[in-house]
Amino acid sequence: MTAPRRTIYLDHAATTPVAPEVLTAMQPYFSEFYGNPSSIHRVGRQANIALEQARRTLAEGIGATPTELIFTSGGTEGANAALRGLALARRAATGANRIITSPIEHHAVLHTAFALRDHFGFDLILLPVNQTGLVDPADLEDALGNGSDVAVVSVMLANNEIGVIQPIAALGVLCRAVGVPLHTDAVQAVGSLPLDVKALGIAALSASSHKFYGPKGVGFLYVQKQTPYLPWLTGGSQEGDRRAGTENVPAIVGMATAFGLAEAMRDTESTRLRYLRDQLIGSILESINDAYLTGAWETRLDHLASFVLRGVESERVLIALDLAGIAASSGSACASGSQRPSHVLEAIGITPTDAQGALRFSLGRSNTADDIAYVLEKLPPIVTKMRAVTMKQRSVTDST
Ligand code: PLP
Repeated sequence: MTAPRRTIYLDHAATTPVAPEVLTAMQPYFSEFYGNPSSIHRVGRQANIALEQARRTLAEGIGATPTELIFTSGGTEGANAALRGLALARRAATGANRIITSPIEHHAVLHTAFALRDHFGFDLILLPVNQTGLVDPADLEDALGNGSDVAVVSVMLANNEIGVIQPIAALGVLCRAVGVPLHTDAVQAVGSLPLDVKALGIAALSASSHKFYGPKGVGFLYVQKQTPYLPWLTGGSQEGDRRAGTENVPAIVGMATAFGLAEAMRDTESTRLRYLRDQLIGSILESINDAYLTGAWETRLDHLASFVLRGVESERVLIALDLAGIAASSGSACASGSQRPSHVLEAIGITPTDAQGALRFSLGRSNTADDIAYVLEKLPPIVTKMRAVTMKQRSVTDST
């Protein structure tokens, strides 16, 4: 009997493993330096020193000042806090009542925008995106007008399903010109793209540690210091009165360590992963007929390849890949299992039938050329088999 292969993990956009260095850095903060960072005594001060060191590392890494960083429980909280905190503060100050976002945002942003519309009375504008998933700055310029009605704009830096990178710096210039705060969901970008909040001209940025080899359940939100902001979580006076609740010190230390590592590895990893990604894209398009790439090829994350394979149901392909030892995804982790076509694919004009065949591979540190070769050996026959199953099922359905 042959030994089972190790799993080839190609779902790094869903989450990444905690890097060994990160785990080591976190360990003492569970049992040795366990203090509450708000406590005055020495045990508390030890935790506080680590907390503030982590804040400095992360702030420096994105071109911010430490007081502009708020620790959160992850990307979902960051998006909620940014949209609610910025929109409600600006409306209170100026009466501006409109939110502008894109239809391909993660649900953390999109559902928050819907909640602000449905429960807080904001108007909502969804900017169009083109077939490759990009927002046109001219459309934002039109929607902004003189900016006086707009409370907040939120456009993601990189998309989690199709990997496209938005022209945030250009959008930032437009928002700044009319004094409207721009938030960017950078959850998929941190650790993969160089980031400078000043160069991007943004008022807020949200990030999540588990996407860059840090622990889950922790993230950070940058809010530019002059930007009016109402805290979303109220209670104690942690985080400069902008986010109540005792900070998760071990996780924050882990996140800062993970960020430092990702920055140090970024250039070499980007080049390596882009090469593997392009191998994967080129070979899949060559070896599987009726398959196409979703989103722009060039303006995309180096580690993400997303496709439509016509005539298959991606759930079945994913199960077959899993049995072959390959972990992939149909798009966002939250959408899988829901059977609803992805809102991202719909927004870029992909038909519901095509969207059923969506497949995403997101590469990471553990992946090698051998992994890609293995996927290229396994995937085409799986697709052929699954197409036969789908055809059979459709003909049965048609005849009943
Ligand atoms: N935004 C994007 C683009 C994401 O991909 C995700 C997670 O997949 C989130 C936000 C939510 O982040 P978290 O899982 O940390 O809540």
